[in-house]
Amino acid sequence: MNELVAVIGTGYDADCAAQALRSHGFRVERIVQGPSAPFQLSTLEGYVGSFALRGFCDGSLTALSVGAVVVATGNERVPLTALKKLPQHARIVSTKQLASQLTKPASITERASRQRQHIALTIDLMTPASREATREVIDLAGQLRDKCKCEVSVLYRELQVDTDWLEKRVRDLRAAGVAFHRLQAAMPEPDAEGITIRHADGQLRADLLGVAQPVRPRRDHPALAEALGIRVGEDGYLQPFNVHLYHFGGTARKGVYLVGRCHLDTDDSGVRQDAELVASQLAVLLTVNGTQPEAVLAWVDRAKCIRCLTCIRTCPHSAVELADAEGVTAAHVLEAACFGCGMCIANCPVQAISMRGQAVPAWLQEAAP
Ligand code: SF4
Ligand code: SF4
Repeated sequence: MNELVAVIGTGYDADCAAQALRSHGFRVERIVQGPSAPFQLSTLEGYVGSFALRGFCDGSLTALSVGAVVVATGNERVPLTALKKLPQHARIVSTKQLASQLTKPASITERASRQRQHIALTIDLMTPASREATREVIDLAGQLRDKCKCEVSVLYRELQVDTDWLEKRVRDLRAAGVAFHRLQAAMPEPDAEGITIRHADGQLRADLLGVAQPVRPRRDHPALAEALGIRVGEDGYLQPFNVHLYHFGGTARKGVYLVGRCHLDTDDSGVRQDAELVASQLAVLLTVNGTQPEAVLAWVDRAKCIRCLTCIRTCPHSAVELADAEGVTAAHVLEAACFGCGMCIANCPVQAISMRGQAVPAWLQEAAP
């Protein structure tokens, strides 16, 4: 079993995934994917424990042998200039821009501090709130209040206060004088002296408006998913959590996992937890002989198989192949790749497949030929 794990992606999510895997004793190969990246991923062949990641590096085909693949490509932030209805004005900046200027002298936040200005921040001005944007705005509101001592208002359509940390932080900010208002549909109206923002309790005048950039799925997800043999959800994120897989971060392909914002609406702490969960699952998958202790797997009776290829075509996890043994060609289940979903059993026209394993459900044992 190959214990080298490929982590696809750059940035915080991929760093967390690599760190969590290393802490579980895995060797990690970082893969930077994208149109301008040095490595152009083309296919992932094989199965868990023995994958071949193929792609082009400087124009020549190259292959990397890995035991598993972790995708941690993150999401994208929409630039404010792409928000059609948002007025483009010097008094409207992104919250990321404000946060990055907090430490710089002579920055707009430093000026705001000197002049005791009023800074308003919006979480979800034009699109549904994300946890990432919520956390970003709440953190920034606290820093502006503590470091700049300026007046701060937070505006939202939906305030997702769903963790103890966030609930406490919002309570503390309110106690420190930060105002929270529910937004109205009207767009902010900037002018030479300030900016007017309407909210459910009336309206406020601010000197500066910080807008949290909305998140969106990466546009290279479909190409990446095709290369890896995994799915993209209707929302454009990589296959969302599927309760039928019983794997957090699992995909339809055993040994290919998703970490962080490429499949979840989450913030940095959620990414760290997700990375740890996936690393723990891989530790079980790649170190217990490639299978889980209670594995339930499909098994083909070679004598019965008529080589109709139905199971090969219908297995959602590409876990069946045709194999020659003792002069007979028949379907063969790759145990390390099989999820034990039972789809092949339901479709085999000659009942050549059955379930084997320690925890075969009673109804399947009774149904077995
Ligand atoms: S049970 Fe059959 S269909 Fe399901 S993963 Fe295993 S081989 Fe594929
Ligand atoms: S569906 Fe049944 S008969 Fe057809 S290839 Fe698979 S095991 Fe063989």
